[in-house]
Amino acid sequence: MAQQIGHGYSSGTARRFAAAALAFVLFLLAPLAASAESAPIALDMRVAGDEAVTRIVIEFDKPVEVSHRLLDRPWRLVLDFNKIGYGFDAEAVNTSGLVSGLRYGDMGGNHSRLIFRTRHPFKIASIESRPDRETSRHNVVIDLVAAGADEFADAMDRSLTTGAVVNSVEKRDRLGSVRQDDRPFTIIIDPGHGGIDNGAKGVRGTLEKDVVLEFARTLRDRLSRYDGAQVFMTRDSDVFVSLSDRTVFAREHQADLFISVHADSLRQHGVRGATVYTISEKASDEVAAAVAANENLADSVAGVENTEEFEGVSDILVDLARRETLGFSVQFARLAISDMKGFARLIKNPHRYAGFRVLKAPDVPSVLIELGYLSNKDDEHLLNQKEWQNGLADRLANAIEKFAALSSRDIESSVAAGQ
Ligand SMILES: [Zn+2]
Repeated sequence: MAQQIGHGYSSGTARRFAAAALAFVLFLLAPLAASAESAPIALDMRVAGDEAVTRIVIEFDKPVEVSHRLLDRPWRLVLDFNKIGYGFDAEAVNTSGLVSGLRYGDMGGNHSRLIFRTRHPFKIASIESRPDRETSRHNVVIDLVAAGADEFADAMDRSLTTGAVVNSVEKRDRLGSVRQDDRPFTIIIDPGHGGIDNGAKGVRGTLEKDVVLEFARTLRDRLSRYDGAQVFMTRDSDVFVSLSDRTVFAREHQADLFISVHADSLRQHGVRGATVYTISEKASDEVAAAVAANENLADSVAGVENTEEFEGVSDILVDLARRETLGFSVQFARLAISDMKGFARLIKNPHRYAGFRVLKAPDVPSVLIELGYLSNKDDEHLLNQKEWQNGLADRLANAIEKFAALSSRDIESSVAAGQ
């Protein structure tokens, strides 16, 4: 449900709306002269006040439509927009009063999001979108007041049932509708993170989301030389894609192999080297458990609620598919490691396993490759080198070709013998 609010509301009216605690959608009825062509740009952002009352002002160059919701653990105010640009200096935003942090970015499908993290539970006293006559800008003004945890929880529940949820990948069905035996071997490359979710950050400022996208493109280009393959990427720009959308994407394309590409950060800064992860309920070791726990937070970092995947498929069928699929995943992990060896530095015990949500498609062989760890400065240095990326992409492409050439019988027997 959405309420339309024109400007010029009295504060009493605004308070009554807040008391209703609905998710608002604000429209500013602007002159048609304001072009709808280019996205509005958030030019400036100010946070002022104390821990009892805090005002957030976001200045746009043109009218915007915004919806909001609350999330907890940690307490957050999520603002959703149609695509906007970010012209403000994020470093200069004064996180004070109730606000302790800011995160923003694109969510895919023409959506943008700003997330304010708060120090305490809060409620929204008012939220308005109004023109500023002096500057001829358009301001979104939000007043937050401190509240009890119960009050927050109630407001959050209401905002979740009425607020808009942004969580979808555009459907790109470039495959034929019927699976053919002679169809090309289909590889999904999944660059981790994106948009509002930066992933890890290197000592020298490298962002995981950027470096893995660059590598994914390199690998895709390398694979395009291979006739028998077709390659799709879960994202090819700086957008957020939820974990379940990544696996759904792979399943929709009836993928033969899903490779999620990452370069995470570890608490142990000395640990470095490429690692290939496959799925398992029980983690192989502490590092694997930590990496998986961190990866599985990606949706909640972006303010997306987890949704249960694979509804409507019986558990037994899923189990059977999983067991067979796991054999393929493990087989590919071994091929990838043996081909990367000699070129890339590998972590000790380079095949590890843990409960990664993004590897959960029951019928698509899936691995997650950490190219290296951005918490290690030597790895960060390598990851930024084009030559190194090319070399590693070559090795992985070789492994993928070998994997594609293997018959399922070979894989099953090798798993029976070696697993
Ligand atoms: Zn990652």
